Amino acid sequence: MPTSATREQLISRARRVYAKKKLGQNFFVDPERLQRIVDSLDLNPQDHIVEIGPGLGFLTEVLAETGNQVTAIELDRELVDNFRSRLPANVNLIHGDFLDFDLLSLNPKPTKIIGNVPYQITSPIMAHVFGEIGEPSAWYSNISCVVMTIQLEVADRLIAKPGSKAYSHLTILKEYLFDAEILFKVPPLSFFPVPEVTSAVVRLTPLAKPPVEPTDMKMFRKVLAAGFKQRRKMIKNNLRFLKINEIEISKIMREAGINPSARAEDLSIRQFAVLSDAFSELTVENSGS
Ligand code: SAH
Repeated sequence: MPTSATREQLISRARRVYAKKKLGQNFFVDPERLQRIVDSLDLNPQDHIVEIGPGLGFLTEVLAETGNQVTAIELDRELVDNFRSRLPANVNLIHGDFLDFDLLSLNPKPTKIIGNVPYQITSPIMAHVFGEIGEPSAWYSNISCVVMTIQLEVADRLIAKPGSKAYSHLTILKEYLFDAEILFKVPPLSFFPVPEVTSAVVRLTPLAKPPVEPTDMKMFRKVLAAGFKQRRKMIKNNLRFLKINEIEISKIMREAGINPSARAEDLSIRQFAVLSDAFSELTVENSGS
C-alpha cells in the first residue's frame, strides 16, 4: 500500500481526521516528494532513525520501506491510535512530546533524524536536536544527519549571509552547531490541509567542531542575544549591559576591524567572537583594578 499510495488516497485518509492547527497538523500528501525526503537521508542499513511527529504515518510508511529501524514520536494521542492500527513492523511508535524526549534512552542510539515538523516549534526542535551555543545536546555526536521540512522563510534564515534581512540569531546558532543546505522547495499543495506558506526540505549536518571558540561563552551568548534583540539598532547601543561606555565600545570595534556603527545583522560569527573576547578582557581588567 505505501509505495502505491497516490496523492488522492493520502488526501482521502487525511480527510478522515480533524487536523489540529495548534499542533501544526498539515499532512504531507505528495508521494513523489515523500520519497525524495527519505532519499535525502542517505541511509545505511544500520541507521536508526527518529521521526518527529509522524501524524498519520505518510512519511513513516515510505521510510519504513527502507527496512531501517524507525522510532516515531507523536504528541497527539488520537493520531497515535490511528497509526498504531497499521504500523509497519520496523517502526516503534511512541506517544510523547519530542521536545522533552531523551534520544539517548533509545537502544540502539539514533543516528539520523527526520520530520515534516510543526512549524510553530521549528526553532525549539532545532535546539532540542542540536543544543544551544556552547552547549551541544547530549546526543549531538550520535547524530550524523537531520532532514526536515520547514517553512521556506525559516530555511532562508538558516542559510542567510551577514548583511541580509534573513540573517538572525538562528543563523548564528546554525553557524555554531551545524551546516544547512536547502534541498528543494515544497509547494503548499503538497500538504493537506493546504498551508498558507511555501516549505523547504533542508538537510542539517552537525559540525565536527565549532568555528569559533570564544574565551567566555557566557559573554558570547549575551552579546549575541543583545545584538539580535533589536537587530536594526547599532550594536554598540545594544550593549548597555556591559557597563562599558560607548566610546570604549567604538574603540574596541574599530580595533577589531569592525565598523563602529555596525548592526548585529552585519557581523559574522567570527566577528562576534572577536568582540566577545575583547569585551571579556576589558571587563576582567575593570574588575581587577
Ligand atoms: N509527518 C506527518 C505529519 C506532519 S504534521 C506528515 O508528513 O504527514 C506535524 C505532526 O507533528 C502532527 O502529527 C503533530 O501532531 C505532531 N506534533 C506536534 N507537536 C509535536 C511535539 N511536540 N512532539 C511530537 N509531535 C508533535
